[in-house]
Amino acid sequence: MASGIYEMLKDFIHLIYPHYCLACHSGLAKGENLVCTICIHNLPRTNFHLYPDNPMYKRIAGRLPVGHAFAFLHFHKGGKVQRLLHELKYHNHPEIGMQLGRVYGHDLLLSSLAGNFDRIVPVPLHAHRFNRRGYNQSERFAAGLAETMKLICDHRSVERVEMTETQTRKSKLKRWQNVEDVFRVVQSGSVRNQRILLVDDVITTGSTIEACGQVLLDAGASSISIAGIAYTD
Ligand SMILES: [Zn+2]
Repeated sequence: MASGIYEMLKDFIHLIYPHYCLACHSGLAKGENLVCTICIHNLPRTNFHLYPDNPMYKRIAGRLPVGHAFAFLHFHKGGKVQRLLHELKYHNHPEIGMQLGRVYGHDLLLSSLAGNFDRIVPVPLHAHRFNRRGYNQSERFAAGLAETMKLICDHRSVERVEMTETQTRKSKLKRWQNVEDVFRVVQSGSVRNQRILLVDDVITTGSTIEACGQVLLDAGASSISIAGIAYTD
């Protein structure tokens, strides 16, 4: 009885405040959440997970010994993926990350890659940015993947620290290499001998994820593979 009233109330609220798809702005049907079924279906998938020698793998493999590298979607300026990522990062919609992670997790489960990882590690945010945003968008995507693939989502083992000004001045070479991010493994026991799937939001040059992957390998991870929400060509 109570749940019936709840459903009626929900329908009523939906009538007054209709929900719109964050990607195409058309009205959402009952049961749809944030992104409509048509948009989810038509997202520009890379299918990189089906091709080990894909462009993203080639971009990163020369600099970091990665097992596999793949991203869910193609990122185009002004496209739906950019709109979704903008909502995810700047408009307080962490659920988008989780939803995309679940969808991609299903794609990955259907491929031969699924059994290749022990745990998923999201690239961490700086503490001040995390505190401002209230969540890490990459961690939300990782959580969706982990839930679907039945893997551990480990957001505690690695930290992102900002260099102090003195350190920055000292390491001009590093600055020139555009490595302003320093990652630190804080729980090496949880990453040692683990096959890690390292997850970031958008993979552009790959230098951030490369820096993060390197500290995990230094801490004894047995292999690093990389997954992004989106990849820029
Ligand atoms: Zn839509």
